[in-house]
Amino acid sequence: MSQQFSYFSPGPAKIPDEVLSGLQEDLLQYKDTHISILELSHRSKEFTNILEDCEKVVRKLLKVPDNYRMLFMQGGATGQFAAVPLNLLSRTGKADYITTGTWSEKAAKEASKFGEVRQVKLDNTEPCKGEEFNPFNDTEASYVYYCSNETVHGVEMQAIPKVPDGVPIVCDMSSNFFTRPVDVAKFGMIYGGAQKNIGTPGTTLVIIREDLLGSPLPSCPAILDYTLLDKNKSVYNTPATFSTHVMKEVLEWVSRQGGVEEMERRCIQKSSLLYSIIDQSNSFYSTQVHPTKRSRVNVVFRVGTGGGNEAKEKKFVDEAMQQGLLSLKGHRSVGGIRASLYNAITLDDTRRLAHFMNTFLKENHSA
Ligand code: PMP
Repeated sequence: MSQQFSYFSPGPAKIPDEVLSGLQEDLLQYKDTHISILELSHRSKEFTNILEDCEKVVRKLLKVPDNYRMLFMQGGATGQFAAVPLNLLSRTGKADYITTGTWSEKAAKEASKFGEVRQVKLDNTEPCKGEEFNPFNDTEASYVYYCSNETVHGVEMQAIPKVPDGVPIVCDMSSNFFTRPVDVAKFGMIYGGAQKNIGTPGTTLVIIREDLLGSPLPSCPAILDYTLLDKNKSVYNTPATFSTHVMKEVLEWVSRQGGVEEMERRCIQKSSLLYSIIDQSNSFYSTQVHPTKRSRVNVVFRVGTGGGNEAKEKKFVDEAMQQGLLSLKGHRSVGGIRASLYNAITLDDTRRLAHFMNTFLKENHSA
């Protein structure tokens, strides 16, 4: 029997096999165009249909209200760290950032180039209390920003911050986009890069309430200008055509699987399997993240009693790789192990990892 492989990468991440098979055909010839999907003009009828269908499936999956617009942008989520202030800061010149890890901190740093940024850093070892997630009571901020899932630290916010009426909330959902239902109406804007749950790098999906368009800072470059992109239906310049197509295909797959409600059910099931092993390992496996903030999509943990042991972690990653369990090394800034359980990771993939973790525990604990 040939060896099975499971790919737990934090991104670019696994794409469902069914989608990959369809893409193989599209690479040789897209529909009846006689050309590859890679060669398709962004002004063609076929690409216009791809964009429209992609928007349609996003609207359906997240039940996006009619007063929200959708933009397909380039520059990754990092591009949005600049685009958000450049488009949304003009009301007061101030913005509030709730930070929980690497990505929200990077976003706050970038925004501070364009205006006055206030930052509150949450303690991830503490529970996500309602009041804790309401750090800015009285704010002149043009918006309040947070990241719903910190990919490096494995921290997922289960609540939406409570902010004063009229202050829009902006959220980076790059790593848990479409892994759970979202009440879009609670947000001014949400966004995410494609390469984790919804495709391959290139396209960043922005969903923004229409009244927030129309007042970019004068210095906002055209390529990051939401108002300009909206007027031009995301084809102001050449967009990431292939990546947009992949996004549409992946989201249609999500829809066929039962939508974001089903993705959430699976994410809970998959992550619980690993967290229960961590919790029952007598501290051989450990995580500092408070149980109420544990990510369902990036399970981050240390291996070895006393909060982690680099030699044991290297052994864990190496032996896992020999078993066909790929890309489990934690982010270089935090070390340890990270198992990313995005939508394309099956329960079977997760069970294989769980089995490996149990065996590794037996063979190495107090050894
Ligand atoms: N935000 C989050 C939550 C991320 O996980 C990442 C990438 N890992 C980024 C932003 C940056 O994304 P990009 O590399 O597409 O700029």
